[in-house]
Amino acid sequence: MKRIDIVVPCYNEQEVLETFYNETSKVTSTFDHYSFRFLFVDDGSRDQTIVIMKQLAREHDEVKYLSFSRNFGKEAAMYAGLFYSSGDYVIIMDADLQHPPAMIPAMIAGIEEGYDCCAARRVSREGESRLRSLFSQAFYRLSNRMTDVQMPQNAVDFRIMSRDMVDSILALAEVERFSKGIFAWVGFETKWLPYENVERTLGTTKWSFWKLFKYALGGITSFSITPLRFVSGMGFFIFLFACLYIAATLIQTLIFGVDVPGYVTTLCAVLFLGGIVELSIGILGEYVAHIYMEAKDRPIFILRQTNLTKHKEEPTQHDSEPDV
Ligand code: UDP
Ligand code: MG
Repeated sequence: MKRIDIVVPCYNEQEVLETFYNETSKVTSTFDHYSFRFLFVDDGSRDQTIVIMKQLAREHDEVKYLSFSRNFGKEAAMYAGLFYSSGDYVIIMDADLQHPPAMIPAMIAGIEEGYDCCAARRVSREGESRLRSLFSQAFYRLSNRMTDVQMPQNAVDFRIMSRDMVDSILALAEVERFSKGIFAWVGFETKWLPYENVERTLGTTKWSFWKLFKYALGGITSFSITPLRFVSGMGFFIFLFACLYIAATLIQTLIFGVDVPGYVTTLCAVLFLGGIVELSIGILGEYVAHIYMEAKDRPIFILRQTNLTKHKEEPTQHDSEPDV
């Protein structure tokens, strides 16, 4: 019998966790040709999430939990879940029931049709603030234009994947993870299932606007070097313009003599170039920051407790210590 692991990243989800388990296991219990296992990842919650996980694990053998030493973010939680998964297929879904468990049979059907992956895509964004929808739209448009990987708009992190695809995702062991990009980057055949957005009824969203903005910016710079090319291109055009302007000024001076007033031109040029230089350094800095974070090679998460008996090797292994 094939096994499906359900990875659930949880951060302060004490209000929903039990309902989530009940609703989801109602769906999974209708399958008798698959066995299911829940892999709850407690992302350093500050509430009773871990207590509820332990209780569920005591009551149900198929419930496993992994608990982080602090909040590492949803990306790290998803990575940890995938890392410790061993099923033939892995489902990733949110704990807040915004990812309807009722879609699981359709996802499994997709896999049985021969797809490597079957993922959900929202057809409506009701219940979401207008500003957030607007920024999200702008992000996808910008990102898809700049990168080779095409991320379908409104795709959510609710999906089932084959073992091969999960292993490919794990092979991308970057510390600063952007799963929406990684899912698209590894390729494989994906079937999309549309669904109506479900509002969160219990608990609250863990994403502030600022957190999302940083996430989006990190997403673009970790998958595309177009901003760097843009800076080079801009530099080139400014250089061309400067050459023409110098030539014109020289000729003008030679013919008509020195024309002293030029206060506005000078000020504009200094401010304009100063702005461009700042912008370029900023863009460059984003990439340097990525290099810096990756070069440190820190583990993506730190585990504090788990009821998984078979531990894997920790994700980051340092082969040798430097001679001091
Ligand atoms: N989450 C997490 N770590 C975080 C933030 C969120 O594991 O730092 C989990 C959260 O518990 C939920 C899922 O990620 O299961 C999605 O979060 P949320 O519902 O807050 O995001 P939204 O649906 O508003 O995008
Ligand atoms: Mg949610």
